Amino acid sequence: MKKIICLLFAALMIAAVGRGPVSEKEPVSDIGEDTVKSSDTEYTKTDEIPVLEGKIIVIDPGHGLNNISAYEPQAPGSDITKPAYVSGTSGKYQTEEELNLSVGKTLYTELIDLGAKTYMTRHGHYSQRSNIERAEFANGLNADICIRIHADGSEDKNKSGISVLVPGENHYEGIDILEQSGKAGEILLENLVRYTGAENAGLSVRNDLAGFNWSKVPVVLIEMGFMSNEKEDYLLSQSDYQEKIAEGIVNGLEEYFLNN
Ligand SMILES: [Zn+2]
Repeated sequence: MKKIICLLFAALMIAAVGRGPVSEKEPVSDIGEDTVKSSDTEYTKTDEIPVLEGKIIVIDPGHGLNNISAYEPQAPGSDITKPAYVSGTSGKYQTEEELNLSVGKTLYTELIDLGAKTYMTRHGHYSQRSNIERAEFANGLNADICIRIHADGSEDKNKSGISVLVPGENHYEGIDILEQSGKAGEILLENLVRYTGAENAGLSVRNDLAGFNWSKVPVVLIEMGFMSNEKEDYLLSQSDYQEKIAEGIVNGLEEYFLNN
């Protein structure tokens, strides 16, 4: 038994000596690996990658003031028409149109700072752009994504939370847009809820919105909360809460573009 142990020991020693020259070379290859490792580490830090740089992003603050009364088809070739301009909901502190513009402008500044080629369908309260024209504006720019910003209202004052609407398949041939919009919607909703602490009111697929059906680029519509809910209406009137919404959108867009 002892002999066997001795033989095994000797064999191990020979093996160890045999590796000697390789071990001596190791520090050299270690240096090489370290260099690669450190640059790899730097590269994988997502917060340092300018993910949004050069991305074409359209912000569409929902609604706008004008005196025009007109109808437009719900989808290309559809007989169903809808009002081209609707005034939106309102809360105790502001109208939805004002809120949408305020958040849109905050988001615009943040995206510009991050190098995104950012456009807004309206910069002021007055706007003659209908829902179809807003979709065509984003199409004309060949936008990487169009973010429509809205807020909800309900007769049920207890209803609250953020939801994101994405286009359904009824009026689409380009399935890529549907998939991309759906993915973006999920990621944005998750980030919005995380950044604001608001209730998750879910993702909903819609086939009835002209602003979706005329879009040829990925598009999502964010319902930032219920202006009919006392607590949420107050939060939506606060600039720090609006900032959280914008940050949630920015982070969501970074996550979306990093993975798509
Ligand atoms: Zn709205």
